[in-house]
Amino acid sequence: MSFDLLLASPRGFCAGVDRAIEIVELALELYGKPVYVRHEIVHNRHVVDDLRAKGAIFTDDLAEVPEGSLVVFSAHGISPAVRAEAERRKLRTLDATCPLVTKVHVEAMRYARDGYEIVLVGHRGHVEVDGTLGHAPERMHLVETVEDVAKLAVRDESRLSVLTQTTLSVDDTREIITALRARFPAIRVPGKDDICYATQNRQNAVKELARRADFVLVVGAPSSSNSNRLVEVARVHGARAIDPRWLAGATRIGVTAGASTPELLVQAVCERLRALGATAVESLPGVEEGVHFALPAELRREQRSATPT
Ligand code: SF4
Repeated sequence: MSFDLLLASPRGFCAGVDRAIEIVELALELYGKPVYVRHEIVHNRHVVDDLRAKGAIFTDDLAEVPEGSLVVFSAHGISPAVRAEAERRKLRTLDATCPLVTKVHVEAMRYARDGYEIVLVGHRGHVEVDGTLGHAPERMHLVETVEDVAKLAVRDESRLSVLTQTTLSVDDTREIITALRARFPAIRVPGKDDICYATQNRQNAVKELARRADFVLVVGAPSSSNSNRLVEVARVHGARAIDPRWLAGATRIGVTAGASTPELLVQAVCERLRALGATAVESLPGVEEGVHFALPAELRREQRSATPT
């Protein structure tokens, strides 16, 4: 059996994930163990286990964090209620919320302040969605599907706006926003939805991969929104999810990874596929991202004062 491997570009870690992991690692280095992290810093078991081994303690409940301890908020963001609870419990905090999620939070607060109701397009129960809903809880409506749009009951159609989770399917979101516009012609839609550059680029790359490969492997965690959307996009564009038996007939296999997946896991999958008969490995051309988000100011200050001059 022999087949070619095609690697999507870009794939794997985005700037928000890089930054979140760096924040926990630097906090461990500068302040020592333990560093508490609220929620999985990013949705990837490998990353979480690695940081746990270095001294991070993960929890979904701030009540478990001893008073005065250092806690890092994950890349997915938090609601103001969580921030207030941390203050009440006198916790020291570092915020690893991705700046692109913070941007959505700021928009939610601005719309709420201006008297708008907000339709949030996202997945119920996802930690990013919970954090965003918490920024204007009395003014938000969560919509997951086009069908939900028909059921929406709003107070004033003339003061309605829409925001989206950052890691949705670009195509699904477009459909939902079209349905919202059809039902509420005055709804305020941002010039560009809030789907982040990394989600958009990885979905575009997997479409190209699905077009060229017999099937596509998406390396990522089941809890990763980003990775799950890549599986959906690959399926819609003609590729199938993995079943080892399919290797037999395949001539080209595509590999990609969600924004929370380390490249070393992608390489481990490629290694396994090489052992199963992959010969040529081609990295497809794709968008050069080059995006970098600055670390929180307090961490940069601490880092400067710890660096010998
Ligand atoms: Fe930020 Fe997008 Fe990465 Fe999420 S996927 S951490 S929004 S860059």
